[in-house]
Amino acid sequence: MKKIPLIFILLFLISACSSNKESASVIFCMDTVMDIKVYGEKSGDAVSEIESELNRLEKLFDRKYDGSDICTIKSGKIHAETEEIIKKALDISLKTDGAFDITIAPLMDLWGFYDKEYTIPGENEIKNALKSVSYRNIFFDEKGINIMNNAAVDLGGIAKGYASDKTVDILEKHGIKSAIVNLGGNVYAHGMRPNGKMWTVAVANPFDKEKNAVTVNVSDKAVVTSGAYQRCFEADGKKYHHIIDPKTGFPSESGIQSVTVIDADGTEADALSTAFFVMGKDRTADFLADNPGIDAVVITEEKKIYYTSGLEGCISNESDMEILCIND
Ligand code: AMP
Ligand code: MG
Repeated sequence: MKKIPLIFILLFLISACSSNKESASVIFCMDTVMDIKVYGEKSGDAVSEIESELNRLEKLFDRKYDGSDICTIKSGKIHAETEEIIKKALDISLKTDGAFDITIAPLMDLWGFYDKEYTIPGENEIKNALKSVSYRNIFFDEKGINIMNNAAVDLGGIAKGYASDKTVDILEKHGIKSAIVNLGGNVYAHGMRPNGKMWTVAVANPFDKEKNAVTVNVSDKAVVTSGAYQRCFEADGKKYHHIIDPKTGFPSESGIQSVTVIDADGTEADALSTAFFVMGKDRTADFLADNPGIDAVVITEEKKIYYTSGLEGCISNESDMEILCIND
């Protein structure tokens, strides 16, 4: 047998080790904990670039910053990325018949979700706020954006998904083949695990968030969850969560406890998970039947788990809840 020179063996070992190099970071950004794990030779560079990108996007899109693009937005020309994300949001509003609506800002404010001073608003206050709530109050023409009826924009239901897509761009730029990024409920599983297997992403049990409801095996997909347990407060023995039905002005009562969207497009997955939460299980099932390629896991108040047939063979139930195919 021909001998392999020692130098080649060493080179092979060095390249195998360097491609398994792991760089990780946990940061607090966009009001949530973000967990980034990247594998490969350039993983360190990728992680630092991702961190600065996330901080940059937070300053652009977060209502927390008084000077952010989104707080100071008015009719006319706006930042190209703000325009891009708002256009995507309006497209999802159209497709979901207004279940997703970025003009819910005055309602979020009324319920105290911005300053975390939670209150149940009065009927008149809600009625008043609803006057400026409609995605139809925003449109684009050759002069740029047009904002009617004092509408104010909240990108909380889509910004993290957009950020995860930007993260993927950075991973690709650095030639990264394996990474998992969790932007507070917005997971993106890039490529394969370092061992060549698919990523396993857990979906929390909304009735006990320390436990899993299901796990899904994915690759190159966003796995985005909107849940009633994620941001909520209790008053007079009732729970109020942060996903508002733009038609009523109240936290949505569609019968859903959590919904997870699995989709290659992270921005779309984020907006749709919020929309599906408002739409409820049956409207979500209809939407998904018309849009193959997008998968979802819906967990209802009756403790039932519904999943799309595209997840067959990739999903496993880790709870004692009943699991059913949503298309049946
Ligand atoms: P998510 O956790 O992605 O479902 O997004 C929830 C966040 O989206 C909230 O904290 C609000 O900032 C915003 N939001 C709430 N209700 C809606 C809605 N119906 N349409 C669009 N954004 C919403
Ligand atoms: Mg969302």
